[in-house]
Amino acid sequence: MRVSELLIPTLREVPAEAEVASHRLLLRAGFIRKVAAGIYTYLPLAQRVLMKIKAIVREEMNRIGGQEILLPIIQPAELWHQSGRWNVYGPELFRLQDRHKRDFCLGPTHEEIVTALVAAEVRSYKQLPLLLYQIQNKYRDERRPRFGLLRGREFVMKDLYSFDRDEEGLDRSYQKMFEAYTRVFSRMGLRFRAVEADTGAIGGSVSHEFMVLADSGEAVIVYCPDEACGYAANVEKAESMFVPETGGEEAPLEMVATPGMRTVEEVIGFLGVPAKRLVKTLLYRTERGLVAALVRGDREVNEVKLQNHLDVLTLELADEAAIEAATGAPVGFSGPVGLKVPLVVDREVAALKAAVTGANKADAHFVNVCPGRDFPVTGTADIRLVAAGDPCARCGKPLAEVRGIEVGQVFKLGEKYSRVMEAFYLDEQGIQRPMVMGTCGIGITRAMAAAVEQHHDADGIIWPVSIAPFHAVVLPVNVQDAEQAAAAGRVQQALAAAGVEAVLDDRAERPGVKFKDADLVGYPVRVTAGRHVAEGMVEVHNRRTRESALVPEEEAVTAVKKFLEA
Ligand code: ATP
Ligand code: MG
Repeated sequence: MRVSELLIPTLREVPAEAEVASHRLLLRAGFIRKVAAGIYTYLPLAQRVLMKIKAIVREEMNRIGGQEILLPIIQPAELWHQSGRWNVYGPELFRLQDRHKRDFCLGPTHEEIVTALVAAEVRSYKQLPLLLYQIQNKYRDERRPRFGLLRGREFVMKDLYSFDRDEEGLDRSYQKMFEAYTRVFSRMGLRFRAVEADTGAIGGSVSHEFMVLADSGEAVIVYCPDEACGYAANVEKAESMFVPETGGEEAPLEMVATPGMRTVEEVIGFLGVPAKRLVKTLLYRTERGLVAALVRGDREVNEVKLQNHLDVLTLELADEAAIEAATGAPVGFSGPVGLKVPLVVDREVAALKAAVTGANKADAHFVNVCPGRDFPVTGTADIRLVAAGDPCARCGKPLAEVRGIEVGQVFKLGEKYSRVMEAFYLDEQGIQRPMVMGTCGIGITRAMAAAVEQHHDADGIIWPVSIAPFHAVVLPVNVQDAEQAAAAGRVQQALAAAGVEAVLDDRAERPGVKFKDADLVGYPVRVTAGRHVAEGMVEVHNRRTRESALVPEEEAVTAVKKFLEA
């Protein structure tokens, strides 16, 4: 193929709206163009990368016995009512009506459709286990579409659904999915880590996310540096070892004046107490009304844990007016004593014997607050955000933190969907049982962007060979020079014959432009036919290592292959 004939509209300028490297580089190198917020067109180079990622994914899904299907994008609301998710999914679900005013949505995920299919078509234990998957567009009206392909509103996902007879079957399917994902991301040349994860809107019990390690990642991962321990979790899910501290001896409750002292730092500085003896009282709005979450002054609330604990659909920090109405005091002086709002008390707060809290009165705090005595503590909750340095939940060693991009997730769903959607089968005894389900998804388009986040430099993208749009570019320095042009053509032919995907940059551009574009697009290897062609030599260059070798034209294929295999 010739660059002069390909649609590769590279840009010199850095697009202003692009905050992260993958967004910037995929725009600049002519891979994608924006159509609307979170909605993109994939140009020929991007499509080639996506096809390669899909091919790897297909091979690995087929290897574990997955059967490829294609489910519709447009889904009738009835199915979503049946699963209960029409309401649960909220504003992220793209909803539409047909001409008869019947409700539909654009699939953000396909549990409903696939479970309904299997419920109708599968009857017997003999047909299980069943692993069905598809590669297809997904639609989510994300609150903040951003970072280019990393968080789109239309994106490509591979989703697989497993149907088993029992929990043991699900365990086996889960293991297969987990191993298949490990192979997929390894073959893509990504540095990644599988971490324990929250199950979110999909639901279920056990889940792992596959995180590509990158500073630009939106996800925070905490992990135990002790490899023998190996604990790693999304911070949304992470726990740490519970080390109860009392913060002093029990004493009578006392109100003290704290004029203008609102923040943790102000209060602890003024009263001369450590942050871990202070209790933060945060008011949240939910669909069931206000709740107050209590964590120690040296901790943050983990809103995912809090939401799971409360089992609510919406959770947002209350605004100033709501706080003042509920506490009778300005923001900064809220406290649990006498508060007429349900309390969720973190276990570390419950362990305190003498704490400092707001007094629900302007410019005042309570000291010697004893949870259980001065305000009710019902049940235990773990709602704190774990941070680097906290003791590992398993071994107690200090945890470390890294950022990651979630490229895939596997879930054990159990009977959540099969029961409500009546996906039953008959076992050997003829007894009807619900199928036990699992699911997993890979963000194909996000994985492409994640690969760029991990593999680029100041000059452009450096594609891992397995997913590169082309393996090599052959670049005649001066196309006007008949010898150079001919040598470049011969090398490209020889590469093609040897199974190496090579493009010929036959454009009558200045050499500088062509070299810059080759670096920007990120072909793993560049073959330059320049002045050394006169001596029968071409230059072979490795994009990643920046190594170059001047070789006889006949040895170019061998030299290119050596770089591709390195
Ligand atoms: P996130 O937490 O990042 O919003 P999610 O957990 O909601 O993602 P899943 O439902 O687990 O996503 O979807 C499976 C995979 O689809 C994700 O691991 C991710 O790779 C991809 N994905 C999810 N949302 C998007 C999006 N808005 N844009 C691109 N890819 C996405
Ligand atoms: Mg996920």
